[in-house]
Amino acid sequence: MNKGLLIVVSGPSGTGKGTVCAELLAQMPELAYSISATTRKPREGEVDGKNYYFLDRDRFEEMIQEGGFLEYAEVYGNYYGTPLGKIQERREEGKDVLLEIDTQGALKVMDKCPDGLFIFLVPPSLSELERRIRGRGSETEASLARRLGAARQEIAVGRRYHYVVVNDTVKQAVRRIQSIMAAEHCRVSNN
Ligand code: 5GP
Repeated sequence: MNKGLLIVVSGPSGTGKGTVCAELLAQMPELAYSISATTRKPREGEVDGKNYYFLDRDRFEEMIQEGGFLEYAEVYGNYYGTPLGKIQERREEGKDVLLEIDTQGALKVMDKCPDGLFIFLVPPSLSELERRIRGRGSETEASLARRLGAARQEIAVGRRYHYVVVNDTVKQAVRRIQSIMAAEHCRVSNN
């Protein structure tokens, strides 16, 4: 049996990664999602153990010391990390595993898991990105400016990924990612 894919999706804040990944998971129940840990406060509607594991800083730092993360990074003043969990086990069982993480974390995963599939999701334009972040209504002007600045830097790092997918509509972005996954499953060097 072929090992499952490790699919890493990143993209600037507000690109719609969350929505695209949620739709991907809804359409592909066999796909395993790696739930990240974070010290950021939950947004309205977010559920602990589903969207994230919401931890305090002490517990997060304890997990770092215990070597409990595949990668972690500090993003916008909060820690985010991928718990080691059962990622490798799942892949050995032939299951694909999806990680939605920032570029700093993805660069670390590129070193640790060079057989990963790295997909960078971009908005159709920076002005559209600003419109989407504002529409979310959760940012102040200062944090919006910070996220837009980070987005410009992140887009430059996107060149290191295997694929760039434009999120013009969720439906199309999901379809493109599914096509990439299907192609990767046929790749001879994926054994
Ligand atoms: P948000 O606060 O909008 O949910 O996420 C902020 C950023 O943190 C996003 O770019 C998201 O991809 C990233 N992120 C979420 N989980 C992880 C993780 O486990 N590790 C890393 N490095 N970044 C993460």
